[in-house]
Amino acid sequence: MVIFNWGRAMKKGLVMDLPIAVDKPKPSLAEKYCSRCRANHSVSAFAKHPNTRDGLQIWCTASTMEYRRERKRQKLQLKGLVPA
Ligand SMILES: [Zn+2]
Repeated sequence: MVIFNWGRAMKKGLVMDLPIAVDKPKPSLAEKYCSRCRANHSVSAFAKHPNTRDGLQIWCTASTMEYRRERKRQKLQLKGLVPA
């Protein structure tokens, strides 16, 4: 039995990947996996992010934009400004 060492995993920066780490395709240097559209994209498709291990957003820019658009619409719907 392997006891999972959280402190060590956090130091290694593995924790952020845990929910999707199981069947994640192997990343290459020029490509990065987007967990939202579940595909590899060239790293140029990812915006920069100061707090991630590789310095890039976890989602590609298209996915991030889509997410923001959805969130905005959801907020408007909650306020009753847009018909559901
Ligand atoms: Zn994506």
